[in-house]
Amino acid sequence: MENSFDLVVVGGGIVGLASAYKINLKYPDKKILVLEKEPQVASHQTGHNSGVIHSGIYYKPGSYRAKNCVEGRRELVAFAREHHIKHDICGKIIVATKASELDHMHRVFNNGLQNGVEGIEQIDARRIKEIEPYCTGIEGIWVPCTGIIDYAEVARKLAELIEARFPGSRILTGHEVTAFEKHPDHTTVITNRGKFEAKNIVTCAGLQSDRVARKEGAKTDNTIVGFRGDYYELTEQGKTKVKNLIYPVPNPVYPFLGVHFTRMISGETECGPNAVFVFKREGYGKTDFSLKDTAEAFGFGGTWKFFYKNWRFGLDEYRRAFSKKLFLQRLQGLIPSLTMEDITPGRAGVRAMLLVKEGKMSDDFEIEHHDNAIHILNAPSPAATASLAIGTRVQQMATEYLRLN
Ligand SMILES: Cc1cc2nc3c(=O)[nH]c(=O)nc-3n(C[C@H](O)[C@H](O)[C@H](O)COP(=O)(O)OP(=O)(O)OC[C@H]3O[C@@H](n4cnc5c(N)ncnc54)[C@H](O)[C@@H]3O)c2cc1C
Repeated sequence: MENSFDLVVVGGGIVGLASAYKINLKYPDKKILVLEKEPQVASHQTGHNSGVIHSGIYYKPGSYRAKNCVEGRRELVAFAREHHIKHDICGKIIVATKASELDHMHRVFNNGLQNGVEGIEQIDARRIKEIEPYCTGIEGIWVPCTGIIDYAEVARKLAELIEARFPGSRILTGHEVTAFEKHPDHTTVITNRGKFEAKNIVTCAGLQSDRVARKEGAKTDNTIVGFRGDYYELTEQGKTKVKNLIYPVPNPVYPFLGVHFTRMISGETECGPNAVFVFKREGYGKTDFSLKDTAEAFGFGGTWKFFYKNWRFGLDEYRRAFSKKLFLQRLQGLIPSLTMEDITPGRAGVRAMLLVKEGKMSDDFEIEHHDNAIHILNAPSPAATASLAIGTRVQQMATEYLRLN
């Protein structure tokens, strides 16, 4: 194989692949190499998420998340139709169960209107019951354009299209990028299995995005921390209590959407995820531990500030991670008749959250560039929904800042 490329993209998650695809669509003759460290693409966040096509209702008007989620959703649905990827625009409800949640729920509704989310409606308790007969709430929002999809399948399709449509481009799995060597007119990208010459670099390494970007020379002060989300699955009897998607009103203080019920495109129905600080960035087990990840997280002042401000939230989430009974109690807030027999432990995912040194989580998409490189430093939810729109943004930045001509 030839070892010289116009662009090397590090990270074969949905955002890295969408970026490579969009750049190749604009520059079909350019040779792009995507390097992924795992044996398959979509092995981390892209393959371990809720599979929801988000509407764009939650995000602050004017933010990158708001704009890219709405545009990306429309594009994703068109892409899924064109390439026969199974999906279902089944709609969802957001449900307030206490009067104290109503103000924030109304804010979420107004965000949805400002963000141009189609067809949203405020609904009363009776309408909640019509849509989801086992769900109890005092008021809610009906969001008809929310859907479900398997994002790993979308990522695999993007990888397939890149190699099929652009003969000079390649996806190489099992290649972990370990270093970059800078030269005046190119960068040598070093992996555990070889060396590649690249005129330009895009990094999109999810849970490793800060480390990979720093190795390349980015001057970011922030660090990635992981938050594991555990899911339970509904048993056959539990599944009769949920038709589609039921979400709580999110806690405005945290960038998580709260434990929700999601019918998956595979036919299972999941409930979760919670949000537990992890001691291993790519650790999916409850007791997984990495000395390097832990030492790095606690060597960063922002982590201590984050813990100091959020210790109660953290402790509650930790207790719920080890107690099915406590997890069930939270779910019963939305479906009071749910029992221990209705849920069984399921899989887990780890979210990459960018923590800034003041101890706050940065909740918007962050992309920076310098010299011949673009780094996607933060791509939290709904980045899977928004991936094609983020890809367009990266392509525009590549046109403006990289040496593609
Ligand atoms: C529990 C959970 C639920 C979520 N639910 C939703 C949802 O319902 N809808 C939604 O839109 N979004 C959701 N998200 C968010 C969404 O999954 C992510 O925002 C999105 O997948 C990010 O994609 P990515 O390509 O940036 O990261 P990733 O998918 O994590 O990909 C990064 C890739 O980089 C690779 N990599 C890292 N280091 C190197 C290296 N040195 N060399 C080579 N390769 C490297 C990794 O192996 C990985 O494959 C959820 C996330 C989680 C974790």
